[in-house]
Amino acid sequence: MQPERLDTDILVLGAGGAGLFAALHARKAAPELEVTIAVKGLMGKCGCTRMVQGGYNVALAPEDSLERHFMDTIVGGKWLPRQDLAWRLVEGAVERIHELENEVGCFFDRRPDGTLDFKAFAGQSFDRTVHKGDLTGIEIINRLMEQVRAAGVRRLEEHRAVALVPAGDGSGIAGALMIDMREGIYRLVRARAVLLAAGGGPTMYLYHTPSGDKSCDGMAMALRAGLPLRDMEMVQFHPTGLLAGADTRMTGTVLEEGLRGAGGWLLNGAEERFMLQWDPAGERATRDVVARAIYAEMRAGRTSPMGGVFLQMGHLGADTVARRFPGMVKRCADCGFDLAGGRVEVVPTAHYMMGGVEFEPDGRTELPGLFAAGEDCGGVHGANRLGGNGVAESTVFGGIAGDSMAAFVRREGVLRDPDSTSIEAAIARCERPFARPAGGLNDLRERLWRVMWEDVGIIRDANGLTRAIAALDGLAEELRDLGLADGERRFNLTWQDWLNLDSQITVSRGIARAALAREESRGAHYREDFPETGDLAASRYTRLRQMDGELLLETVPVDFSIVRPGRSLIEDDAGAPPAAEAKP
Ligand SMILES: Cc1cc2nc3c(=O)[nH]c(=O)nc-3n(C[C@H](O)[C@H](O)[C@H](O)COP(=O)(O)OP(=O)(O)OC[C@H]3O[C@@H](n4cnc5c(N)ncnc54)[C@H](O)[C@@H]3O)c2cc1C
Repeated sequence: MQPERLDTDILVLGAGGAGLFAALHARKAAPELEVTIAVKGLMGKCGCTRMVQGGYNVALAPEDSLERHFMDTIVGGKWLPRQDLAWRLVEGAVERIHELENEVGCFFDRRPDGTLDFKAFAGQSFDRTVHKGDLTGIEIINRLMEQVRAAGVRRLEEHRAVALVPAGDGSGIAGALMIDMREGIYRLVRARAVLLAAGGGPTMYLYHTPSGDKSCDGMAMALRAGLPLRDMEMVQFHPTGLLAGADTRMTGTVLEEGLRGAGGWLLNGAEERFMLQWDPAGERATRDVVARAIYAEMRAGRTSPMGGVFLQMGHLGADTVARRFPGMVKRCADCGFDLAGGRVEVVPTAHYMMGGVEFEPDGRTELPGLFAAGEDCGGVHGANRLGGNGVAESTVFGGIAGDSMAAFVRREGVLRDPDSTSIEAAIARCERPFARPAGGLNDLRERLWRVMWEDVGIIRDANGLTRAIAALDGLAEELRDLGLADGERRFNLTWQDWLNLDSQITVSRGIARAALAREESRGAHYREDFPETGDLAASRYTRLRQMDGELLLETVPVDFSIVRPGRSLIEDDAGAPPAAEAKP
């Protein structure tokens, strides 16, 4: 089967904060280059940037500083972040938020004196979260989309990337193979530079927050292309996903962190406030601590009627809650719950992947011509992402990647001849279900959700992880033999589901392998059989590659290039002397 062909200068895979910013910056930096965005859904209507609620972390207040934001990111990430990336994040966030306001046209909430309003987010030493009410992402993505449309970017909507295609001579990337989901045909897009910005998304867990179009396709493509991924064991569970019953997709969707920041309480089924037993910060502790505490209450059977715990806001006053969190209050009201005046049931929900493709501060990856940005990437957040640092990451590094790709293409970008064997193998993989008897996809998906939730979830141990690895191998085998009811390729959503599962299982195996290898507890990764955090000064990160279908794992020492454990960049940090190390 021969794919249709299309050539472009710069190909962007994904239209979230990372992809849209990359496209804008690339057009601006090199207007003579053609930029094409390919996206699995409709531009502006898919991905998680649109779903951002709480807001965007940026050290803008006079009493705040880049050093503070940086230290919060490093300490929150349990000393696992790659420090030059974390510094780029905090520095770039200042530039990007000005760009969002002054060039992209976003309106963020301001105080009566005209200054930006910063809300409190957990795990931060300073209130620095810029927001638009409690639905910040809609403002960002709508304004960005308008700019991208006006910038003359070519759009391939409902185009699903299924493989990164290397050059036949091994010199770099040649392009990406797509399925045009509307027409049901394959399309090979060759490009001088390609950006991977498909946004990760831990949708392989029973409870999860990301949009349905996210199924870890980007990470799965990177693994199949032999690229290194780091920190894959680090999956963040947001503590407060709404529990709305088994038969609604509202279950698992996030009730934002600002609710706890504002003084919301978590109560178990016995109506006891339990967080202070876990952390002096109580409900404002970092996400990993709160998610684990809730899960422990659930395991001990102290649950609310639907099996979670309660999030109570009523004690803050219904009017205050309704004014400050109108989106959350409405979301709960739509499901028949009164958040403002009372309490709702919540459960931890898989939210974000700190791990992902290894990349350089300018967006380059190991494969020449391939760049990566956003949630597909690993290294910025280490073992735990602070709320508000996600959208900052995708927009900061998306913009940087756009600039870098433009410079790269001008300097050395060539259209490479694609490796035909890779294309044939990718098409054969995608075509596989058409030649098999139909059935069983829903059942398989539910078993995947359960395996990941129970054995690779919030609390892990060697027995569970070993069991999960065997189960995931079995699910991968089963999927290979599952087929589709008809041969129609146009808008065949069951086919797309099959492909989603293929990506999710591929990446789940990586998560389980990395989780088994990390024999300590750190940030989002908690091992009941190794509850202690190891020596921070000897921190290592996991690096995973797939070769000939096998996963290879190694651990690599963390380079404390800016500050070492036990030290700080903040001069007034109690007990910690300022770091001698120089900032980049
Ligand atoms: C409910 C929710 C609330 C959040 N709230 C916050 C918050 O308050 N603050 C914060 O900092 N972060 C928040 N986050 C995290 C934040 O959304 C992400 O960190 C960030 O938006 C990721 O941006 P991205 O561009 O990498 O990915 P996304 O915005 O998810 O975009 C990914 C894009 O890739 C496309 N895509 C996927 N697969 C393919 C494929 N195979 N081919 C082509 N295209 C593909 C998708 O359709 C989408 O367009 C939240 C996340 C969720 C789910």
